[in-house]
Amino acid sequence: MSTKVRYCVGNVGHPRAAQYALRTLLEMVVPPSCLVLGSGVDAQREDEAVVTYGMVREGMESGVRVFDSGFFDHHYGSIDAMPKRPLVRIQNTPAIYRDDRDATDRFYSFQHGAQGVTVDCHVDIVAGAFFLLSRYEETIVRTTDTFGRFPAESSVAYQEGFLQEPVVNQYAEQLLTMLRIAGFTGERRSWWRGAPWAIALTHDVDQQYRFPHGRPPALAVARSLAGRASADAPRWDRLLADYAATATHRKKDEYDCLAEMAAWEVSVGIRASYYFLGDSSGRRGADYATDAPGVTLQMKTVASMGHEIGFHAGFWASDDMQRFRTELTKVRSAGLPVVGGRQHYLRWKTPVTWRLWEAEGLAYDASLGFSKAAGFRCGTCLPFHPFDIESDREMSILEWPLMFMDATYVSSWSEGTRLLDDLSQKCQRYGGVLVLLWHNRNWSSVYAPAIRECFRSLLERCIAQGVAVSSIVGLAQLADATLSSQGAVLGERVESSSTVSVPGERHGKA
Ligand SMILES: [Zn+2]
Repeated sequence: MSTKVRYCVGNVGHPRAAQYALRTLLEMVVPPSCLVLGSGVDAQREDEAVVTYGMVREGMESGVRVFDSGFFDHHYGSIDAMPKRPLVRIQNTPAIYRDDRDATDRFYSFQHGAQGVTVDCHVDIVAGAFFLLSRYEETIVRTTDTFGRFPAESSVAYQEGFLQEPVVNQYAEQLLTMLRIAGFTGERRSWWRGAPWAIALTHDVDQQYRFPHGRPPALAVARSLAGRASADAPRWDRLLADYAATATHRKKDEYDCLAEMAAWEVSVGIRASYYFLGDSSGRRGADYATDAPGVTLQMKTVASMGHEIGFHAGFWASDDMQRFRTELTKVRSAGLPVVGGRQHYLRWKTPVTWRLWEAEGLAYDASLGFSKAAGFRCGTCLPFHPFDIESDREMSILEWPLMFMDATYVSSWSEGTRLLDDLSQKCQRYGGVLVLLWHNRNWSSVYAPAIRECFRSLLERCIAQGVAVSSIVGLAQLADATLSSQGAVLGERVESSSTVSVPGERHGKA
């Protein structure tokens, strides 16, 4: 009976990175309390299944050996370690790095010995997972769009057609299957305390006014008259009627809906994360001042309903520590606990932006989705600790990667609905979490009736099915509680990872 997993990494040029990737894969499917770090020379205990990477273990009689493609060796950190294209699929899973010496169409093979079963994994799932989780390509290929972001179209996942597949989770599943063959009988990790999967509901509060400073909607009216408005947008006469009613205070501005939205969520049993901007300057800033008494009161009202208040780092703060800190201080001036959030416009530079969140002592970021395409930018539908390639270390914050935002499909909502459905099914299949971004402007039944209806019905349906729907803080508590019940010591992982010694000289590979 093997109820624990001993994992061993050796003979690779960057063992810290490889060990991080292997452990992260394992932790997706095995409770962290069941994982034991081994050196490879220590004896395998009876209650342990072993998985090795990069080493030949003398006398290994049973366990899983993951193929080492050499990713973590000489070319690590350079463009030469990018995957060979086009990628092949093995058992319908993209094999980003693999053993191509003999053309096998099997993900793994196994043989029985006197002491047990030895499984050989022919896909380098450790390198593949690391490639996606660390956003390796984004540190190597510095392509940017007009907003300075790494575009979806430049990613290997998009070009190879697997952006909408959580490949890292697929690898973790394969690894669990291999461990089972090798005799692992321990429990599978459950993330959401009994719920089959989860939705993290988040709102970026960019605007609170459809008509800031009472300005008439001249451009939108012109667009409507010219027939260039999106299908969901109101006709010019309805727009003008809404303007007139708002300007004469016969009704509230449609985007000024946070309390109403928050109350509806509570009424259906949901809590959400509300991210506020601390930058109200210029065209890219908020149309409200976070530290104004009215906004502070609004934040407190939303928080008093059990929602999370978080930080929406401004357009210019993605690589500017000073700005980041100033804006965060403003959002924190309401006196509410702020432990995470997201970058405005999803402006991101790997790994610099992660470092800002970490340096300010924040617990998580939820920015890493592509602005122009929904999917799994980090290859996973579970939260994970990022790895800073340039500093060769695992980071203390958690990334809750964004999978779907309303704004991406605002003018092609039927495609958006189809993708939302597809991504939900994938999160369900892997017991993951769909991190969803719904802007408060799309709560409006005047300006976004289709989006509003779609999100409301999705959330109500999921709640009825027992899906855990909550803010990120709410889900993190759920996951931690699950961990505690499984006997893990909270914070153990970060401490252990920071004390991992880096072996000196690399030994020749056998
Ligand atoms: Zn924003």
